[in-house]
Amino acid sequence: MRALLADTANIGYGELHSKEVPMVVRTIPVEDFDLVIFGATGDLARRKILPGLYRRFLAGQMPPEARVIGAARSDLTDQRFRDDVRAAIDEFDAKADRSQLDAFLDQLHYVAIDAKGTGGWDSLRDMMRPGVVRAFYFSVAPSLFGDLAQRLSEYDIADQNSRIVVEKPFGRDLESARALNATLAEHFDEGQIYRIDHYLGKETVQNLMAVRFANILFEPLWNAQHVDHVQITVAETVGVGGRGGYYDQSGAMRDMVQNHLMQLLCLTAMEPPYHFDPNAVRDEKLKVIRALEPVAEDEIVRGQYQADGDQPGYVEDSENPESRTESYVALKVRISNWRWQGTPFYLRTGKKMRARTSEIVITFKEPPHSIFDDSGTQRANQLVIKLQPDEGMDLTVMIKEPGPGGMRLMQVPLDMSFADTFGPAGVDMPDAYERLIMDVIRGNQTLFMRGDEVEAAWAWADPIIAAWDGSKARPEPYDAGSSGPEEALRLMHRDNRRWREIRA
Ligand code: NAP
Repeated sequence: MRALLADTANIGYGELHSKEVPMVVRTIPVEDFDLVIFGATGDLARRKILPGLYRRFLAGQMPPEARVIGAARSDLTDQRFRDDVRAAIDEFDAKADRSQLDAFLDQLHYVAIDAKGTGGWDSLRDMMRPGVVRAFYFSVAPSLFGDLAQRLSEYDIADQNSRIVVEKPFGRDLESARALNATLAEHFDEGQIYRIDHYLGKETVQNLMAVRFANILFEPLWNAQHVDHVQITVAETVGVGGRGGYYDQSGAMRDMVQNHLMQLLCLTAMEPPYHFDPNAVRDEKLKVIRALEPVAEDEIVRGQYQADGDQPGYVEDSENPESRTESYVALKVRISNWRWQGTPFYLRTGKKMRARTSEIVITFKEPPHSIFDDSGTQRANQLVIKLQPDEGMDLTVMIKEPGPGGMRLMQVPLDMSFADTFGPAGVDMPDAYERLIMDVIRGNQTLFMRGDEVEAAWAWADPIIAAWDGSKARPEPYDAGSSGPEEALRLMHRDNRRWREIRA
């Protein structure tokens, strides 16, 4: 088998070991660009965006003329900014090859700008080169998105070909998301706005589309007739310590479900788009969100992690003893359409969980009749799409237990771990941010959320949040390091199902 990966041009052949798939890794350099990162001194830029750009530089994808211009209020020289970026790469990408770091840093510049002020904007305009792609990454607090959009057009810095990249959170409810969409629309067309959900940049998430729509195998079974239920889990081991103030205004429903889990649900449930085209894909996702039924109060469980020994609980981490904000949520979601009528989707996400894991589990129905004497054996096939910590897929199938002793059946996984299959000599999986930034430069919006999608997701989430805000109930307690509250287990048990174990 020969696998062709990535749409790149410098053709290189990875060395292969026995388990690897022979393949061609190609890297197509993107067009020349000026990328301005607002908030370039912040956590996200230092941890993800700038190290990610260096990796693309190492991969030969960044043209030698391209420039990255950092912008923030701090008064830095180009040299000081470069020193900071070097330190960030040392800290957050210790494994990256350092041999080309100086050349990369030479392509970096800095301008001091206050999103709310007037200083620095003229300098930024003078720095922009005509005839190259202009992209502006808004890696600042969402309250500044509108100011940045306005200044970019007021100072004539953005042109028709410019793109803006907007970080999460995109609003905190339908009303604020609409207002933000309207503000951005005053200055930019929808085709210029790239709303990031970094989950969409993960290799496996795109592979979910490839598995579904490039194979005949699964799609005929991908419906309520053959799928018993779907589970989507995003579990984190970290708590909210350090950003408790922000999180306390948000909670798991706003911070994770409305965006990340919703996107995973859409890609799992959507109809095949007529073409792998940004609007065709996003049209199909939007139809899924619009088909979501309201969630009944007894089909949602909210949890909050408790103090454990010297480990602080949520209320200590958020410094709000009265907080009713959920650090965990589990819910049963129904999609009202032909394909999924009768097949529930169970979503759960939480902090301070037993292990860090994100996965989508498709549990198929059991065969209608067994010719084997295997009563009591769990016979349902499961397809597990793993997003983290390692990306890959598992398909469990029934086989005969090896050896003598009659026909006893057992379940085994057909494991496809991308790291095992393609690495280490094969493909170095790009981080989600790397891929998404290059998509911005290419002008490909497929993996970005459209304005109407975000609004539809809020329209679904708002009543759930409002019902909670209007009740006096407290979240269910759960122990740090556990799988979440007991109530969430009962949510499944009531339906004669159970969550897949959370494990690293
Ligand atoms: P952060 O660490 O607080 O950094 C904020 C950045 O904005 C700094 O560079 C700051 O530099 C700059 N800034 C603040 N006020 C400014 C102003 N008036 N004008 C121009 N620049 C200003 O925040 P972050 O964690 O990097 O997050 C940035 C954005 O990404 C937020 O929207 C956040 O929700 C989103 N996000 C972050 C993460 C993450 O892991 N950090 C993950 C997902 C989404 P100066 O103080 O020098 O101006």
